[in-house]
Order: sequence, then C-alpha cells, then structure tokens
Amino acid sequence: MTEIIDGNEVAQEIRDGLVAGIDGLTDSGTTPCLATVLMNNDPASQTYVSMKHKDCEEVGIATRDIELDPEAPASALFDTVDELNADPEVHGILVQMPLPDHVDEREVLRRIDPAKDVDGFHPENVGRLVAGNPRFKPCTPHGVQKLLAAADVETEGANAVVVGRSNIVGKPMANLLIQKSDGGNATTTVCHSRTDDLEAKLRDADIVVAAAGVPGMITGNMLSGDTVVIDVGINRVETDDGSELVGDVDFESAKQKASAITPVPGGVGPMTRAMLLWNTVKAASDESGVDVELP
Ligand code: NDP
Repeated sequence: MTEIIDGNEVAQEIRDGLVAGIDGLTDSGTTPCLATVLMNNDPASQTYVSMKHKDCEEVGIATRDIELDPEAPASALFDTVDELNADPEVHGILVQMPLPDHVDEREVLRRIDPAKDVDGFHPENVGRLVAGNPRFKPCTPHGVQKLLAAADVETEGANAVVVGRSNIVGKPMANLLIQKSDGGNATTTVCHSRTDDLEAKLRDADIVVAAAGVPGMITGNMLSGDTVVIDVGINRVETDDGSELVGDVDFESAKQKASAITPVPGGVGPMTRAMLLWNTVKAASDESGVDVELP
C-alpha cells in the first residue's frame, strides 16, 4: 500500500504545536509578529499574502500588512525594511516576491535583519545553513523535512535526488538533506535542466524531491519502486473546464511505484505556510530570550 502523505494534517499538527509557545511568549510580553511587504499587483501574490495573515491570526501571531506602490522607487522599499528592522514589536519580515524590475531582489534580501529573516534567504542565513548551523531553515524545504519525519522516512544513508536547484527550494533542500543531523545524512544528488540522464538518477533514488516547475515531468516508469516521492511543484495547467493545479510528478503513475507520495494540492504547500509560522515563533523566542518548545 502506498502511503499518501497528508500535508494538511501534518501542517495542522505543526500549527497546533505552536500555540502553547505563542501563548507563552504573549504572556511574557512578546506577541510574535510577522510583517509582510507587498510591492506588486499580482493577484496570486496578493492571495499568498492574505493567506499568510489568516494563518497568523488563527494561531495568535500578530501581523503588519504593508503595501507599496509597484511604481515607487526602490528606496521606498529599503526605507520600509529599515523601519521594520528597527521596530522591536516586529519579529519576522517577509518581502513578497516578485519585485518590480527596478528593485534589486538581492539588495532587498541583504537589507533584512538576518534575525528577522523568516524566509531564510539572507546571505548570512544561507551561509549558516550551508555550514550546518541554521538559524532559519527556508520554509518549503523545512516543510519537506518535517513531512519526511512525519511519514517515518529514514533519510540517513538514503539516496536522495532533488530535482531543481533554485535558491528557495532545490539548493536549501539539498543542504538540509546532507546535514550531519536528524533529517539529514542522505547521499544527495541535485539535478537540473542540464542534468544528463535524469532517469538514471531517479532510478537510483530512495527519496525524490521534485521542484522543477514542470507539470507531471516525473512519471512512475522513471522510478525503481519503493521510492518516497515528495512533489514540491505547483503548476497551473489548462483543462477542459478551466484550469487546475498539478505537481511536477504524475501522481497516478508514480503512486504505483512509490512507497509514499505527497499529493498536489495538499502536500508540501500547506507545510510551507506552517513553517513560516514556525520561523516567526522562533524569531520571537530568540529575540525575547523566552524559551519555546517548537514542534
Ligand atoms: P525555479 O524555476 O526557480 O527552479 C526550477 C529548477 O528546476 C531549476 O533549477 C531548473 O534547472 C530545474 N528544471 C527545470 N526544468 C527541468 C527539467 N526538465 N529537468 C530537470 N530540472 C529542471 O522554480 P522554484 O524552485 O521556485 O519552484 C519549483 C516548483 O515548486 C514550481 O512549480 C513552484 O511553483 C513550486 N513551489 C512550491 C512551493 C510550495 O510551497 N509547495 C514553494 C515554492 C515553489 P536550471 O537551474 O538548470 O534552470
């Protein structure tokens, strides 16, 4: 029987597990607070931001909601980040991507106080992750790590194949899988669009993490059997009735070969959201010195 790893259920457990810590922090005078900054008119980004606010509200995390005119100069965003960095009531800062072309994304990421960088994309936090001393693990790969743990998947000694090498998913995912710690110790191969013979790499895999952004590119006949398949991809495709969201894995055929598999939607997506809350609580705990048990 193939296990369908239920991301909604695991994410709910994480959220439930955060509540006691949030209450404890609030009782000791520190209400965790996430600030979001949106500088585009993209409806999908607006939806993502409003979902993040709703998630925070549900567990008792305070929020700040800042919207900037996409036509505003880059300095407006830098000033906003500086103000949030200096605000003692704000513990986490999330600048929603994409940014307008005239704003240098890397400069924005460098500007965020690393102690408030709950996305984990500041170079200092990237460096700490690579060095094996993470402060904030990026939300999506951290969520994948939690899903693997929840499904009792042993990463130690496993052959893990990560398909995708982006800074937000593929690279940090690989870095987590090779850590000399729980949820790591995997022998990890990172594949990308220039990989020669991807299928041979997939056939050798005990764990596949698909993060390529190509709908259904990994099919069951590419897997050797008993593979754990984590599908990070979220791709909107046209259908006869309109459109639907699909992953990078062809779920039906991969399910025949997998020992465990995540669906899309309802797999990694809810975990990404939950781990943002997790990082915000960690930021508030670190800043206040109030110890919190994180789930
Ligand atoms: P990017 O486009 O930044 O990166 C995609 C990566 O996949 C690149 O490294 C690219 O290689 C590689 N790739 C593309 N095509 C192929 C191919 N045919 N074979 C092998 N490798 C390939 O995407 P992201 O990392 O931002 O996102 C990946 C997917 O995950 C998307 O569907 C996105 O929507 C989804 N996503 C889901 C999240 C969630 O919460 N579930 C969160 C974030 C993203 P190269 O570097 O050579 O170009």
